[in-house]
Amino acid sequence: MRISLPLLSTAVGLGLTAAVLTGPAATAAAPQEPVRGAQLGYEPSAGSGEDAAANRAFFEAVIKSVAEKRAANPTSAAAVTVYYSATNAPSFRSQIASSAQIWNSSVSNVRLAESSSGADFAYYEGNDPRGSYASTNGHGSGYIFLDYQQNQQYNSTRVTAHETGHVLGLPDHYSGPCSELMSGGGPGPSCTNPYPNSAERSRVNQLWANGFKAALDKALEKASQR
Ligand SMILES: [Zn+2]
Repeated sequence: MRISLPLLSTAVGLGLTAAVLTGPAATAAAPQEPVRGAQLGYEPSAGSGEDAAANRAFFEAVIKSVAEKRAANPTSAAAVTVYYSATNAPSFRSQIASSAQIWNSSVSNVRLAESSSGADFAYYEGNDPRGSYASTNGHGSGYIFLDYQQNQQYNSTRVTAHETGHVLGLPDHYSGPCSELMSGGGPGPSCTNPYPNSAERSRVNQLWANGFKAALDKALEKASQR
């Protein structure tokens, strides 16, 4: 079941992804007991100190789900579509829609679309002292948790677009300026910019052109062996 991407070798090497990669490609499952070290928050305090590895685990869960579906239903479309479910985050419907629109207008190799079933990842909402974060549920599925209080303190569209940036493969960079989306809560609550900068856009395009191709090749290879 495991898809190894060259760019993900560090996370695999650390053994952090072993558990999240072997589960079934269950989608939009409810968050379960958080996997330690597999979360990326909006603020530094919410991070585990293993952000790069955690980000890769999360990105790998999403990319694997997309690649397996694409292998099963080949398409000639150049851009890869990642489907999300917003059913369990009803208070954030407009922020989630804005975030998808922001990303879709910023990058060309991947696009986000809402789906009522079989989503590649899901948004959830609630109260959590760790704030908002992207994580994996221990069964190979990625999800984004949006915390009520943090979304009142900070610009909610920026929080949502930031967490969605993790879906697309970007790590946190809290020391960055407000013009950087992945600096998250680093520049403080007055920062309301919900757009990725040019470096972030290029990075996502790159990840979905090269990293995704490797995942797709692997999924196709596996499908042909069945
Ligand atoms: Zn983050």
